[in-house]
Amino acid sequence: MNQQNYFSYENNMKYMGSSQFKAFQKCEAAALAEIKGEYVRPLSDALLIGSFVDAHFEGTLNIFKVQHPELFTRKGELKSQYQHAEYMIQRAERDKMFMKYMSGEKQKIFTGEIAGVPFKIKVDSYHPTCIVDLKCMKDFASVWNEEERRREHFITYWGYDIQGAIYREIVRQNTENTLPFYISALTKEKPEPDMQLYWIPDNVLDDALSEVKSLAPRFQKIKNGEITPQRCEKCAWCRHTKVLNAPVNFLEECEVYEVE
Ligand SMILES: [Zn+2]
Repeated sequence: MNQQNYFSYENNMKYMGSSQFKAFQKCEAAALAEIKGEYVRPLSDALLIGSFVDAHFEGTLNIFKVQHPELFTRKGELKSQYQHAEYMIQRAERDKMFMKYMSGEKQKIFTGEIAGVPFKIKVDSYHPTCIVDLKCMKDFASVWNEEERRREHFITYWGYDIQGAIYREIVRQNTENTLPFYISALTKEKPEPDMQLYWIPDNVLDDALSEVKSLAPRFQKIKNGEITPQRCEKCAWCRHTKVLNAPVNFLEECEVYEVE
């Protein structure tokens, strides 16, 4: 496996990755459709800014700019949001510690197995002493978790603990070292971006790994066609493939609010 075929259909079928695992947690039907290429997640500005900053730290920003003409205006200038992405990069580069954490081996690929399921990972910045993943986000504010009806730290809301658990375990299988996992985080705030290095403690990763171990075999069976995926009935894919069977009594939906 290499950088070019890491996200290919064959490798996404053969291996589970941390994004794929998180997609299955959100909606099994959408995750499967995405692997099969039936559903293409829309490429948002937010995603593209993240990839832009990733590409810079990987040293491939020039290739990235050629591959994404949509970054530029008709006059050939970088659109303002990507000019700001360049400013975010400059801000991070002024910080010695941020750069030290980002100075590992870039986009290092490892494979392994969790609960009998083949996994692949691609580490943003791999050091023999730690694992670092780069994240760009709106800000560091807590996020409302609708299901649990409470605000939550963005680290757990976005499943970065799940990602850290998968990365730490697959690296351990390859190197025999259980390494600490860090997020080097950069915000898109204007005019001044914020930045932070977050450590996710080992006991948090232990709990997250248990969750991965308990769910990965089910998701693998869905990929193998042995189990029918469950629909969340909320996401874009479920709305796109929805079929109406009968009218619904609206009062049933009111009762749902009352229970909550
Ligand atoms: Zn869904």
